[in-house]
Amino acid sequence: MTRLGSGGRIEVICGCMYSGKTEELIRRLNHVQIARQRLQAFTPRRDTRYAVGNLVSHNGVRIEAQPIDSITEIRDYLRDDVQVVALDELHFLDDSADTIVETCQALADRGLRVIIAGLDQDYRAAPFPAMSRLLAVAEQADKLFAICVRCGAYATRSQRMIDGKPAPFDAPTIVVGGLELYEARCRACFEAG
Ligand code: ADP
Ligand code: ZN
Repeated sequence: MTRLGSGGRIEVICGCMYSGKTEELIRRLNHVQIARQRLQAFTPRRDTRYAVGNLVSHNGVRIEAQPIDSITEIRDYLRDDVQVVALDELHFLDDSADTIVETCQALADRGLRVIIAGLDQDYRAAPFPAMSRLLAVAEQADKLFAICVRCGAYATRSQRMIDGKPAPFDAPTIVVGGLELYEARCRACFEAG
């Protein structure tokens, strides 16, 4: 019979903007709560799109989440009896890829189920190093897609727009924004700035 196993594991949920990463994370955490497993969720403080301290899905399911500035804070907040640790929007953390991977590995090695959601590529379609490495070591990796706003195909890229034009290549990697700033695009419709 297939089972998750009693040991720790890393699950990665990645994709472009609007691909439903947060929705999928909340779906899994809802099941964790139904199964009465002990959960702690975290969210980078830089993610100002939601009510601070909550993961919120479009259909209103709300999961309490502790805001953090660095992934290393997870260890400080961790309760002894926790079974599942979740982190949304990994790309908003400034930590090095080494620090992120080592922290997630250490949590999973302790027997925890670690669920990480975040962008796989930046607005230039370059991979985020920490996410690339987590994908390699994860027990489970899911890559979600959105819908290209130009042609309706499956979208894998997050296009940043400034005054109707693709943002220049040398702009900051992280700029918080929603539909006014980012469009989901497919490979063919994606325009490098
Ligand atoms: P992510 O966390 O990956 O940015 P969310 O879970 O916050 O995604 O949002 C996913 C929701 O975004 C979808 O259920 C849909 O309602 C909405 N959405 C808006 N634009 C698009 C798009 N171009 N393609 C797919 N979904 C979109
Ligand atoms: Zn397209």
